Amino acid sequence: MNLSALIDHFEKIYLDESSRNSELAQRLTEIFPSEKISWVKGLPSQDSGPLSAKQFGQSKKQLYVKPFEGHFFKRCPGSTQKKVLTCCNYYVLNLGQQCNMNCSYCYLQSYLNTPAMLMYSNIDQALQELEEMAAAHPDLPYRVGTGEVIDSLSLDPLTLYSRKLISFFRRYPKWTLEFKTKSDCVDQFLDCEHAGNVVVSWSINAPQVIDKEEHGTASFEQRLAAAKKCVDRGFPIAFHIDPLIYHPGWKQNYQTMMTRIQESFRPEQVHVLSVGALRFQPEQRHMMRERFGMDSWVTSAEMFPSEGGKWRYDQGLRQEMFDFIIQGFKSVDPRWRIFMCMETPESWISAYDKTPNQVPELKELFRPLPRVPSELQV
Ligand code: SF4
Repeated sequence: MNLSALIDHFEKIYLDESSRNSELAQRLTEIFPSEKISWVKGLPSQDSGPLSAKQFGQSKKQLYVKPFEGHFFKRCPGSTQKKVLTCCNYYVLNLGQQCNMNCSYCYLQSYLNTPAMLMYSNIDQALQELEEMAAAHPDLPYRVGTGEVIDSLSLDPLTLYSRKLISFFRRYPKWTLEFKTKSDCVDQFLDCEHAGNVVVSWSINAPQVIDKEEHGTASFEQRLAAAKKCVDRGFPIAFHIDPLIYHPGWKQNYQTMMTRIQESFRPEQVHVLSVGALRFQPEQRHMMRERFGMDSWVTSAEMFPSEGGKWRYDQGLRQEMFDFIIQGFKSVDPRWRIFMCMETPESWISAYDKTPNQVPELKELFRPLPRVPSELQV
């Protein structure tokens, strides 16, 4: 969605009084019509219980802006489940919560209970925390991602936070910042000077899966076009082929996806490819079925309880899908760097005959970083 589509999308903007002096609140009052803006002290009518399917859908059309209380900087959730998951080791910076897009499998459905999207107004505090980390450990090659519980870029035409972050990371060329998105919102930062250390990444899928399961997101071709713009401005890019979703004709459709990526980019232009398979918390199945019916390839899938409490396809199908994708890239050009994210060691051993830090071209990605200083942890 571009800026005008976002202005249309949101029905109501709640600006908390505590964010009155922020740049973000100021900007939103300038770009939204005044009848959509309300100044509030806390969110009106917030119940503590879970949202109904209808309320969850409605929460995507209301934006609540307030300062984040506490520390912004925390570790990727995969890194806290080391016994069951093999995860790239990086740090998460949440700039808000919820999403204006609407994927059938979205894991936010399993736990969010706020009646509006949240966007934090105090990004300067997040940058201050990063300054403290830089001062304490100037030589550490930190990797930071912003797309855990909110899409990194889908609201960026409203916030312009990417510009501040890119500018900040320019001072720390050894660090890496990753934006992760299913939008095509890149125009607002393409003119920023950068140090080549900001990776713009897309969750991508077969075009048929995007059309059927990822409602309100940028299309497959729009994502490729946005990635091309970033490459042309010297930004490293990445693709997360996640979640692989089993459906009739999946091999043909995923082959189309791979061929289009290989036609559009060279391996050296793509920082990394990751691949993951459908997984979700059992408690979100009811919400997914209520919101998307049984026609979805997600809600109708046969899933099994697995390590970590999530439901996944059975190991044989997962492996077949991983092998198909990994071979689909490696057989064309072995220089494609591809790894499995949020997967069990068994899948790694089966696909590579190795764990991630034993695969030479991926070793650097999985090299554990020292922990965030305790005073900065949530
Ligand atoms: S883009 Fe990500 S956060 Fe947004 S609905 Fe889809 S899965 Fe959820």
